[in-house]
Amino acid sequence: MLDLFTILTKGGFVLWQKTFASINGSPVEDLIRNVLIEERAGTDLYFKENYALKWTFANELDLVFVVAYQKILQLNYIEELLETVKRMFLASNKELIAQGKLEDGDFTSFSHVFDKLLQQIEDKYSFQNRQRAPRKFENTKKFESSLKGSQAQNTGTLPVISLNTVDEDEITKNIKALKLQASPRTGPRARKAKPSKSTSTGSLSTNEDTTQKKKKSQKQARVWDGQIAKGEMEALDFSNAKSNNNEVDDEDADADAIAAQFVDESKLGQKNAQGIYEVQDVVQEDDDEMDFEDEDADLSKKVETGTSGLFSYFKSFTGQREITAAILDPVIATIKEHLITQNVATDIAEHLCQSVRTSLLGKKLGSFERISTAVRNSMETALKRILTPKTSLDILRDIEQAKSEKRPYTMCFIGVNGVGKSTNLSKVCFWLLQNNYKILIAACDTFRSGAVEQLRVHTRNLRALQTSGDGIVELFERGYGKDSAGIAKDAISYATVNNFDVVLIDTAGRMQDNEPLMRALSKLVSVNQPDKIIFVGEALVGNEAVDQLTKFNQALKDFSGLQNPRHIDGMILTKFDTIDDKVGAALSMTYITGQPIYFVGTGQTYTDLKNLKVSHVVHSLLKK
Ligand code: GDP
Repeated sequence: MLDLFTILTKGGFVLWQKTFASINGSPVEDLIRNVLIEERAGTDLYFKENYALKWTFANELDLVFVVAYQKILQLNYIEELLETVKRMFLASNKELIAQGKLEDGDFTSFSHVFDKLLQQIEDKYSFQNRQRAPRKFENTKKFESSLKGSQAQNTGTLPVISLNTVDEDEITKNIKALKLQASPRTGPRARKAKPSKSTSTGSLSTNEDTTQKKKKSQKQARVWDGQIAKGEMEALDFSNAKSNNNEVDDEDADADAIAAQFVDESKLGQKNAQGIYEVQDVVQEDDDEMDFEDEDADLSKKVETGTSGLFSYFKSFTGQREITAAILDPVIATIKEHLITQNVATDIAEHLCQSVRTSLLGKKLGSFERISTAVRNSMETALKRILTPKTSLDILRDIEQAKSEKRPYTMCFIGVNGVGKSTNLSKVCFWLLQNNYKILIAACDTFRSGAVEQLRVHTRNLRALQTSGDGIVELFERGYGKDSAGIAKDAISYATVNNFDVVLIDTAGRMQDNEPLMRALSKLVSVNQPDKIIFVGEALVGNEAVDQLTKFNQALKDFSGLQNPRHIDGMILTKFDTIDDKVGAALSMTYITGQPIYFVGTGQTYTDLKNLKVSHVVHSLLKK
C-alpha cells in the first residue's frame, strides 16, 4: 500500500530507504525543497502529483522520516507507522547516534525490522477495519442504566469537563476518519453477558470445563495476525441466519475459535495453593532449571578458568592489593559498554558504573580474588538494589482491600502510541478474569479512530473465553471526541453502582512532548485518582524510555493543579519477546521511576503476560 519510506538527514543525505513501487518523479526531493527547507509551519501532509507524503522529525538528530503513498488511499496508520519506525530506528542505532556517526552507518539490516513493523501495523489496522461495528453502546439498556447510575452518583448531573485542553483539530480529524470507515452494520444481535457455566475454582489446567475446551481447541495457538478465523468471522456475522440459533451454542463456537486464536495453552498460568491464578515467570531459555545462584556460581567458575562470559574479557590477577583506578577503570569501561549494548540507557549505565567504581576504589582484593569478580559482585548488588520493588506488587491484595471498602479498584494505562496499551490491558483483564473478578474496561482513548472498536473486540473475545468461573467483563464506552476524564469518571461511577471489582482505564497514546495531550492525561488522573497508574512501554527502547518516563511523570506533576500530584506507580514492559534478552529497558525504567515492573508482555495472545524476576534481569544484564 505504501510507495516509499525513507529516512534522511535534514541535509538530504538518505540513510535508509525502501521503495515498494517505481516512483514517478521525485516527490521526496520536492518535499524537501518546497516544504522542509522552507520549514512551512504546521504542515505534515504534502501532495505531489499522485502522491501523499507525510513525515516526522527527530529534531535533536536532524533526521526526517518520510512516507509516500498514493493520495487516493485513506491510510489511517501512517502516523503510527512513522512514530514507531522512528522509535525503532533510534533505538537500534544508539551507538552510532552517541558517536555522532549516523552518516557512516550501514542500515541494510533495518529493512528486516521495518518489514516486521509494517506488517504488524498493517495487520492491526486491517483487523480493526474488518470488524463490524457492533451496536452502539449509547443505544443499549446497559448505557441507560450506566447513565442512571452515574447520574445518581453525580447528583443528577454528568460532569462537564472542558475539551479545550485537547487538540481539537486532531479530534475532528479522527472523527471524520471514523465516519469514513465501513458503513455500520444494521440489526446487530444483542450480546448477552456471558453466564458463568461453572462455579468451579479448579486450576485452569485441570478443571473439567477447561479440559473439554482444550480438547476442542487443540489447534495450535495463532498470534493476532490480522486475519479473522472462519469461525470467528461467522460469529461476527450477525446478519447470518445463525443468529436465531441457541445463544449458548453460538457462544461455544466463539469461545473455541477465539481460544484457538488468542490463547496459547502452553503459556497459561497456574493456580497457586491459595487458588490464585498466577501468570508464568519469564524463563531464560539457556538456564531452564538452574536458579540464579547456580548460574552465578557457574559463571564465576567460567571466569576462574577464563573460558567464557562477559567477565572473561577482563584481565584478572591475583594477590592482595589495593584496587586502584588503573586496574578498575578498564573493567568498568567494559561493563559500561556491555550494559549499553544490553539497551540500558547511556546515562544510567554511566551512573551505575560510577557508583560501583566508588564502592570499590581503595578496597583490598583478597589473594585469590579477581578484579572482574569483585566488579561483578558489586554490580550485581547495585542492580538488585535498583530492581527490587520497594512497594508491594500484589495487585490482587489491593483489589481485595478496595472490595472491602465497597469501591472498585482502578488502574489507568498510559504511554505513547502503539506500545501495546490496549493489548496489554486486555491481557491484564484476562488474568483478572481467571481470578473471578468483575471488570469494567473504560474506553477513554477518545482520540485515535478505531481505539474503541479495538476494545470492543477484546471485550467480546475475553467474554467468549470466560467459560468458567465468576469473572465478568464489560466495556464502558462513550465514543470519540469527548473528554476522557469525564468518561473515566462516569465509568467509575457505573462500576461503583454495579458492583464491579476493577476498572481498567484505557487512555489515548500520546507523545511525551505533546503538551495539550499531556495536560488532558494529567486531568484524567487528577479527577479520577486511579489506584494505580501503569506506564506501558516497549522493551526495545533505550534512552528513549528515560525521556518518556521523565516527561510523563513531570506532566503528571506540573499539570495536576494538586498539592500532592500523582506519579507513575509501575510499568508493563511490552514486546519483551522481540528483544533477544536485551533487558536494559527494564533496568532503565525502574531506575528512573523507582517503581516496579508489574508484568512484561511477551507476545500477542492473552496468555502472553508474564512476571519478570529480578534475578532474570540481573542475569541477562551480566551474561555474555
Ligand atoms: P496501543 O496503541 O498502545 O494501545 O497499542 P496496541 O495495544 O494497539 O498494540 C500495538 C501493536 O503491538 C499491536 O500490533 C499489538 O498486537 C502489538 N503488541 C502488543 N503487545 C505486544 C507484545 O507483548 N509483544 C508483541 N510482539 N507485540 C505486541
